[in-house]
Amino acid sequence: MTRTFFLIHLLLVTQLLFSSISLAHTASTLSPSAQVSTQSWQILQEIVSENGARPAGSSNERQLLHDFTNRYWSQSTGLAVNSQPVTFTVKSNEKHSANVWITYPGKSEGHLVIGAHADSTGEDEGSQGVTDNGIAVALLLALGQQLSTMELNDSVTLVLFGAEEVGLFGSQAFTAALQADSRFLTGAPFPTAMINLDTIAGGDHLYVHSPTKKTYKRCDKDDRYNSSASVRDSLLSVASANALPFSLHPAFPGFPEGETGEWSDHAPFACAGIPVGYIEATNFSINGRDGYDGYSQTLHPLLWDCLDRSEKTACNPDQEQRWGYIWHTQADRLDKLNQLYPKRLRAQLNAVTELLFNFLTSDKSLPPASN
Ligand SMILES: [Zn+2]
Repeated sequence: MTRTFFLIHLLLVTQLLFSSISLAHTASTLSPSAQVSTQSWQILQEIVSENGARPAGSSNERQLLHDFTNRYWSQSTGLAVNSQPVTFTVKSNEKHSANVWITYPGKSEGHLVIGAHADSTGEDEGSQGVTDNGIAVALLLALGQQLSTMELNDSVTLVLFGAEEVGLFGSQAFTAALQADSRFLTGAPFPTAMINLDTIAGGDHLYVHSPTKKTYKRCDKDDRYNSSASVRDSLLSVASANALPFSLHPAFPGFPEGETGEWSDHAPFACAGIPVGYIEATNFSINGRDGYDGYSQTLHPLLWDCLDRSEKTACNPDQEQRWGYIWHTQADRLDKLNQLYPKRLRAQLNAVTELLFNFLTSDKSLPPASN
């Protein structure tokens, strides 16, 4: 080694050392919320590359429910991960899925359940279920590691539901078990609030919903339907205090402002008497195939056959096929979404993570339940 070469080498090593110190410094200065969001984004890439589409009852759905929770919850927290088998029938075929959850004990009698469905649909069209609902699953997997290091006031259960897309079978089985045995959740008190994460990114705007005041049709007559908007309103007040972009959807026929229907995993919880809030990214200002119902998620022109931007609807409603849908279509793929919206998913993931974090650490996280 010549002397010059040695000096250059020494210089390079010194530079490398300094740059790695500054990188380590950057990593440690990230807030806990930013750390969770960054890790969620990494887990989402793993879900897409290792797991892909996850039809209800498929081996991919089971892999996400069991292998990923083992990797991110059991191995790193040392807490028990619980599961409940879920059997359901589609077109006379019996299929098997599961719910998987972990409970973090808190000091108070409050108990917040945060849930997201693990299955996806639209695999025949090429959907990977990235926004519906892989990104929410990734967030719960990452959040679990962080919660194990925190002192919690309220107990928190994170749950991944199976078989949502084919009829809410997972969340239905979960709430049925809860109602049969109020200590079903590993000895924690009966839940005092539930937050449903379903499609928390992709759509043009972030909303928080409560259930309709009118009892959901799916509830049994003797269910204790809870239409409280308390969880929604607490989430929105935390969002506003932290300048996070969440809002209520405007009223549309059958649905007053901020109130949503029974089409996701919050519904069985509302039927079971638990106050619920539901976070969703879509766009209720679009006049979609069936009106302003939030089913059309985006005004991105590449997700329409022909978009009339000024009217926020299709140029030719009779011929439009695509209607700005991401969910359940070939648009719900990471490669596609990164092209269409280079920064949106990450920004929305950050916003939802920060909202949940601030909600979990705020004094008034669990308002008293009231109908
Ligand atoms: Zn969904």
